[in-house]
Parts: sequence; C-alpha cells; structure tokens
Amino acid sequence: MARERILVVEDNDANLRLVTFLLSSKGYDVRGASDAQQALLLLETFRPRLILMDLQLPGTDGYALTRRLKADPASRHVPIIALTAFAMRGDEEKAFAAGCTGYITKPIDTRTLPSRIAEYLASEPVSERTM
Ligand code: MN
Repeated sequence: MARERILVVEDNDANLRLVTFLLSSKGYDVRGASDAQQALLLLETFRPRLILMDLQLPGTDGYALTRRLKADPASRHVPIIALTAFAMRGDEEKAFAAGCTGYITKPIDTRTLPSRIAEYLASEPVSERTM
C-alpha cells in the first residue's frame, strides 16, 4: 500500500519539523510548506490525502487558504485539519466556517498527534482524485 500523503502548512519552523518528524516516523509521506504560496505550488504536483493547516500564516492566512482550496474542484475533496493556538478561542468555529473538518490545538501533543491523524484519515472516504 502506498504511503499516505500529508501536507503540513506551518510557518513556525520548529512546529513544522516536529509534525513532519512525528508523522514521517509513522510512515506517512509528509511535505511541508511555510506559507500559502508555497503550499499552492506544492499542490500542483503533490496530492495529499489530508492537509494540516496552521491558521496564522504570514500573508494569506490559513482561513483564506482553506477557503481557496475548498473552492477549487482539484482540492475541495481533501480534508483540512486546522492547527490552532490553544489560547485562541473562537478559532475553531472560524476554522469550520472556512471549510476545515477538524482541528488540533497547539502546542502539539506529541503523544496523541499520530493517532488523531489516523482517526481523521479513517473517518474520511478516500477520493479517487487523490490516487
Ligand atoms: Mn503560524
């Protein structure tokens, strides 16, 4: 079985490396982008099964990028899980309104992240478009 592809959009380098390490070590094919522009460029060739989206990004933020991806037939089927700062109340509602299907709070809980991702993947049907 092919390794499942995950895109992580996160401008904090330490967070990006942490998430990439945790998920790569579980066998996922993980790519990272530090802003919306990089993410969109990567998505031209990389078809993820799931996207982890930091909401606070420089320039185009995670909400706007999520809305854009959800408006595009090429990417609207890809589940997007928001990465939200723990203290930011209200982020979750805004994330769902933008099109996210779930959220994970930061700081990242290294013990539970892989199982949370596995649950999200299991709850989302595999689209033929990601094959
Ligand atoms: Mn950020």
